[in-house]
Amino acid sequence: MGYRVIIKEKNIYILQILDEINWKEEKIYFKIKSEDMIEFKSFKLKEPNRLVFDIYNCILIEKGEISPKISGIKTVRYSQYSTEPYVVRIVLEFSKDFLEPQLKLDKGQIILNFSKEEKAEKTLENKLVDIKFMKDEKKLSFNLFFDLPFTYTKGILRDPERIFFDFPSTTVSNTNTLIIDENPVEKIRFGFPSLNPKVLRVVFDLYTSSITYEEVFTNTLKIDFPIIDKKESSKKEKGGNHLIIIDPGHGGNDPGAIYSNIFEKDLNLQVSIKLAKVLRESGYNVILLREKDETLSLDDRVNLVKNYLQNNSFIDKAIFLSIHANAALSPEVKGIEIFYATDFSFPLAKTISEVLSKYYSVRTLRQGKFYILSRIPIPGVIIEMGFLSNNEERVLITSEEFQNSFVEKIKEAIEKLI
Ligand SMILES: [Zn+2]
Repeated sequence: MGYRVIIKEKNIYILQILDEINWKEEKIYFKIKSEDMIEFKSFKLKEPNRLVFDIYNCILIEKGEISPKISGIKTVRYSQYSTEPYVVRIVLEFSKDFLEPQLKLDKGQIILNFSKEEKAEKTLENKLVDIKFMKDEKKLSFNLFFDLPFTYTKGILRDPERIFFDFPSTTVSNTNTLIIDENPVEKIRFGFPSLNPKVLRVVFDLYTSSITYEEVFTNTLKIDFPIIDKKESSKKEKGGNHLIIIDPGHGGNDPGAIYSNIFEKDLNLQVSIKLAKVLRESGYNVILLREKDETLSLDDRVNLVKNYLQNNSFIDKAIFLSIHANAALSPEVKGIEIFYATDFSFPLAKTISEVLSKYYSVRTLRQGKFYILSRIPIPGVIIEMGFLSNNEERVLITSEEFQNSFVEKIKEAIEKLI
C-alpha cells in the first residue's frame, strides 16, 4: 500500500496518497492507495454549484483538473488544500444544477456514480442509526451515526429558530421527537421533505438562535453548538446574530516579528484568546481562526472566513479582526496601527481608531491592498498593537494588564458598531 511518511516539526504524519482521479462512463473514481479507512467530508457550495470533497491525511502527487464527459459536470479540480492538517480537496463543478451522485467506497477508491438508471435499480439507502449528545462548558455536541458515508446540506429557519440538516437517500428507524432541553437545543425532529428522491431532514429546534460547527468522520457527523452564557446572552440579545472572526496573525512556521525571545505569533494568539473571551462573555458569536501555534497561509485564512460565512447563513453582520504586533528598524517608532482594505471597512477601522485613541496613541489609520482584507466579503481590519522593537511598548504589550485592558477597548469599539 502506498503511504508517505512526513516528519515535520517533530510530528510524524502517515499520509494516504491520492494518485489518480479519472472517469469512465458515468462514474468518477478518486483512487487512493490505501485499504484503510478514508476520512473525508463532502459539502455543497453555490454560485457556481459545486460539490466539494475534503480528504483528510492525504497528499497529492500533482494538482490538476479533468473534464469528464458526464452530462451536467463541467470540471473536476483537485489540489492540496492544506498541509496542516494534510487535506486534499476535490471540487466538482456542475454546469447547472446540483447532481447527487451515489457514493461508494471500494478498496481505496471513492466512486461517484452519476448514472441514473443504475441508481434506480439498486438505490443504496443510508440509515441514521443513532444520535448521542454530550455537553461541556463550551459546547453541546451531537454525534449522528450512519451506516454509510453520507453527504448533507444545512439550513436555518427562523421564528421559531431551527437549524436543519438534510441527508439524501437516508432513512431513520425511529422518527419520534427527541427532547433535549439543553441550551440552545430544545428538541430534535425528523421528517422527509422529499420522498423522491428521498431526503431525511433532521431539525434542531432551538431556544435561541445559534450557530453550529460540523465535523465529518466517515460515518459520523459531529455537530457542535457553542454555548453562550445564559445570563450574558439575555443581557445582550443583539450579539446573537453577529459573528466576530478573530485572526491571530502568523503562527506555526511563520513567527511574524521577533524581538529576542518574544515571537509576535505567540503574542497575537494570547491577545486574540483574551479578546475572544471578553466578546463571548458579552454574547457575541466569536470564531478564532487558530487556537494554537499552527501554520495557516493567508489563503487558508481567506478560505476559513468564507467557509464560516457560508456555513452560518443566518449571520446578519460579521466582522474580521486580525491581531498583530509590529517591529521596526528604529527603536524609536511606536504606536498602534490600524489598516483596512475595502471602503466598506472604513467605519469599522475608524471606530476602532477613535476608541483606541482615547486611551493610547494611535500612529496610523490607513487603507491599503492587504491580502486577506481585500479578499473577504465582510468589514475587516488589521490591528497592530504596538512595536516590539520599542522598549517601552514591548514591556507594555507583553504585560497581562495591558492585554486585558486592550481587549476591553476593542470590545468597546465593537459595541459602538454592533
Ligand atoms: Zn504581523
